[in-house]
Amino acid sequence: MQRMRILGVSIDRVDMKEAVSRVAEALKLNKKFFIVTPNSEIVVNANKDKALFEIIKSADMVVPDGIGLVLASKIMKTPLKERVTGIDLMDNLLMFSSENGYSVYLIGGKEGIAQDAAENIKIKYPNITIAGTHHGYFKGEHTGNVNHPDEKEVINHINNANPDLVFVALGAPKQEKFISYNLNKLNAKVFMGVGGSLDVYAG
Ligand code: UDP
Repeated sequence: MQRMRILGVSIDRVDMKEAVSRVAEALKLNKKFFIVTPNSEIVVNANKDKALFEIIKSADMVVPDGIGLVLASKIMKTPLKERVTGIDLMDNLLMFSSENGYSVYLIGGKEGIAQDAAENIKIKYPNITIAGTHHGYFKGEHTGNVNHPDEKEVINHINNANPDLVFVALGAPKQEKFISYNLNKLNAKVFMGVGGSLDVYAG
């Protein structure tokens, strides 16, 4: 996989089709797959937050969710193929999941947002299985509260729902930290931080 670096952060040179097929491959092989979708602000923040920098480095796929990154890549003469926004990728993965029988879990946002998002996603993709939802206001290692009972409860909730994909909308960098710190404890396969996307689906 070709990658290019902006401020030391490696970004994959993938377009939407390739991004979805990499996820499809991971699901087929039953492999864990962690997706990060940085924009310029997150790349800059990663240079100030070493933990975030290392987490992005550890991700299986890093897609450019910011026109600034695509423009910077052109100036650097190592052009990224296209902007792949988090919400577009999430929507493509929801469509892929509904067509291929994979289940999804939505976590994040204020109480009720993930359920409202789930209802609207069901209207858009009637065949999709939403395995579960959870709000995004809980404590855990991602908020600096290691071994907090809230985090354990959330992990159990996700594992009991047994989803294939988990979309995490806690904003950056909380969502990337939550995924990275709990990747080994969570039984799902694909994990993606999706920022404010659940608010968008909730309408
Ligand atoms: N959020 C959350 N828990 C938190 C902080 C934020 O669930 O502790 C949710 C917030 O309600 C919103 C989403 O995270 O739905 C994205 O927040 P923001 O717009 O700040 O993130 P960005 O899209 O800029 O990464």
